[in-house]
Amino acid sequence: MTGTKQLFGTNGVRGVVGELMRPELVLRIGQALGAMRPGTIAVGRDSRSSGAMLVHAMKAGLLAAGCDVVDCGVLPTPALQFIVRDRFAAGAVITASHNPPEYNGVKVIEPDGTEMGDEQVIALEERLASGEFALADWRGLGEEKDGSGLVDQYLDGILAHFPPGVGRGMTIAVDPGSGAACQTTPRLLERMGATVNAINREFDGTFPHRLPEPTPAGLAPLAALVQTTGAAFGVAHDGDADRAVFVDDRGRYVEENREFALVANHVCQRRQGMIVTPVSTSQLIEDVAAATGCSVRYTAVGSIYVARSMLALIGDGMQVAFGGEGNGGLIYPDHQFCRDGGMTAAMMVALLAETGRPLSELIDELPPYHFISEKKKSGRIREIVPAIIAAFPDHSADLTDGVRIAKEKTWALVRQSGTEPIVRVMVEAPDRAGAEALRDAVLAVIRPFLD
Ligand code: MG
Repeated sequence: MTGTKQLFGTNGVRGVVGELMRPELVLRIGQALGAMRPGTIAVGRDSRSSGAMLVHAMKAGLLAAGCDVVDCGVLPTPALQFIVRDRFAAGAVITASHNPPEYNGVKVIEPDGTEMGDEQVIALEERLASGEFALADWRGLGEEKDGSGLVDQYLDGILAHFPPGVGRGMTIAVDPGSGAACQTTPRLLERMGATVNAINREFDGTFPHRLPEPTPAGLAPLAALVQTTGAAFGVAHDGDADRAVFVDDRGRYVEENREFALVANHVCQRRQGMIVTPVSTSQLIEDVAAATGCSVRYTAVGSIYVARSMLALIGDGMQVAFGGEGNGGLIYPDHQFCRDGGMTAAMMVALLAETGRPLSELIDELPPYHFISEKKKSGRIREIVPAIIAAFPDHSADLTDGVRIAKEKTWALVRQSGTEPIVRVMVEAPDRAGAEALRDAVLAVIRPFLD
């Protein structure tokens, strides 16, 4: 027993198709998952060219293990999570999220709709490593059912949170990027009453017009569409649409921490409690918490840690208002405990309808912060953490993931990467000079521990 994950990362298994991501591997994951979570399992995928091949391998493994399978087709990861919750023994999504087209992967969904946590993933990997799968005999094999209509439950689930027709009179530009949200987000916003103009709205696993990772450069056509159509905003997703990013009414890309702060402010004016977010998130969220009477609870970096912390806090009787990451992945605890890009697009409609003000104005009102991120070769975070604490005695120190020191509105984080032998250094301050000064001071402390 290794006690650590080998194959799965923070968001499932990912790799290049034909290298790590081969049908044999996914077949074995299906057999191991089927043995661990007997019952009916919902499967889905994003729009990648390798998706059909790998989803068939997943289904074969699950059926061989004696599970029934409901195939939900191509849909966003949060849609499958919504469908799985309280209705299925587990779920499996074939997706590589924001990775380039040659990648694919597997995310395993638990019956509560969250991604499988570390302990259970380790148990799953042990079954994979042992190579011993309890297969059903011919009488006990599973059956496959069509679940392609179930995605409507997800759209209905989002719409239930908003007044009918709240988007009436609003024009919105949408770029699903040929990915999983092609048949959800445009429909969702139309059902809210908005006029929708969309680009890249056909599934295409070659992602011919932009990569699955939404970037300011990749979203230039969306920004142009916003301006030519006079849209209130543009919204785009990553490949599996658990994240949403925005272009404002002036065609400017909205930095994702500012998006997070704007939506958190809207949610926390109605809902008190903690805002749960990784230690890498902007000071903007502390500002929102202070302004709305909420508080911030930090987690390790990774959306799964945010979602699981939210559930654990609620289990302990705490009030949780909101959760999310500064990358457009926002979690609405009265909706479901995972990042949801469709829900975030819908929330922006409600937010703008309620304020009656342009998105550009709301974003410009948020205080500016200067952010610096660097990476350095080192595997010595255990020595770096006490050195940082000793060097900054007048700062508070949070040891949730590496070390995060803070003083007033300036903070720095040093943490080990989960995937490479590097440490990441992040610094944020109200101005460039403050951020650079703290960055230089932190780098001076960690220099002896670099390779
Ligand atoms: Mg994603």
